Amino acid sequence: MTDCVFCSIAEGKIPAKKLYEDEDVIAFYDVAPQAPIHVLVTPKAHVVSLNQADSLSDHVLAKLLRVAAQLASELGLKERGYRVVSNCGVDACQSVPHLHIHLVGGRAMGAELA
Ligand code: AMP
Repeated sequence: MTDCVFCSIAEGKIPAKKLYEDEDVIAFYDVAPQAPIHVLVTPKAHVVSLNQADSLSDHVLAKLLRVAAQLASELGLKERGYRVVSNCGVDACQSVPHLHIHLVGGRAMGAELA
């Protein structure tokens, strides 16, 4: 999609510190990390948010979580834990309208979700 920053990253048009890529999914470090480790996992297909989950196959939706868990393990987060979040829409402060999962870890977080 034109003018979508994550589509541009997936197409290699703008740089990102990539950690994982296959035919469906790409993962890269967040440019403004909110924790020592802050990674985004996103489908390559342009889908605005989880509101459009039906536009993706179950295979790709499952892969987003599987890749997040795999990266958490590779980045040493498995033992202490981590948080996985997907902001959807205005009330959740979603700022990039391309579905993505935040993988955040490397520090203790509060019990509250918001
Ligand atoms: P959200 O507010 O949930 O939509 O999250 C969007 C995230 O994308 C934010 O944490 C931003 O820091 C991050 N972000 C925006 N542009 C880029 C970029 N070019 N490369 C990596 N992360 C980005």
